Amino acid sequence: MTQSLTQAQLVAWLGAFRDAVHEHRAHLTELDAAIGDADHGTNLTRGMDAVMALVDSDDVPDTAASLLKAVGMKLVSTVGGASGPLYGTFFLRAAAAAGDAETLDAEAVLGMLRAGVEGLASRGKASVGDKTMVDALAPAVQALADAVGRGDGLPAGLRAAAVAAAEGREATTPLEARKGRASYLGERSTGHTDPGAASATMLVEALADAVA
Ligand code: ADP
Ligand code: MG
Repeated sequence: MTQSLTQAQLVAWLGAFRDAVHEHRAHLTELDAAIGDADHGTNLTRGMDAVMALVDSDDVPDTAASLLKAVGMKLVSTVGGASGPLYGTFFLRAAAAAGDAETLDAEAVLGMLRAGVEGLASRGKASVGDKTMVDALAPAVQALADAVGRGDGLPAGLRAAAVAAAEGREATTPLEARKGRASYLGERSTGHTDPGAASATMLVEALADAVA
């Protein structure tokens, strides 16, 4: 398992996520209109546009850790709502886990994503089954861990993670929300896919695409 995640692939990941958020902005907002306040697509578009302005600037951070940290801080300061601090925490924790590693091999990428998702879940006090972004992200980390355990390369491991995220997203539909705005609806939150689980799946798919 020699393949590593390069700085160029990290940048490609962020660009692919920005593109997905733009493409599916209306869909994300519709999902949030059903069980929230109809701003999830707008929130993430604003945040990822700010992130890409930073990435495209001359002083783009040149290590994985510094780039991910800058992304996290940008998301916290621009996204607002619940998802800003949560996605921000994901990137800040991933940055801390990346540390000063020179190459991000599959184990390191797993460590980064796991730290990010654990940080997000603990910040949101959310567990799998609460109908949040954690329902997509936690299975994705587990699928990557399984793949790394089998000795699969990063591209195959991240593809498996993306499939698991999408399954986790779909599994949110029948659930009653226990966290965030959607939880105010109680039983009426059932029958709708969680918007954060939908955007989190895009985040994992973007990484799989960037590394493929
Ligand atoms: P807001 O709810 O403040 O309008 P967004 O619409 O941008 O923020 O994001 C909503 C998404 O955030 C939800 O679909 C859910 O996935 C996620 N979310 C909300 N609260 C939590 C929480 N406590 N833990 C984990 N995820 C959460
Ligand atoms: Mg909202």
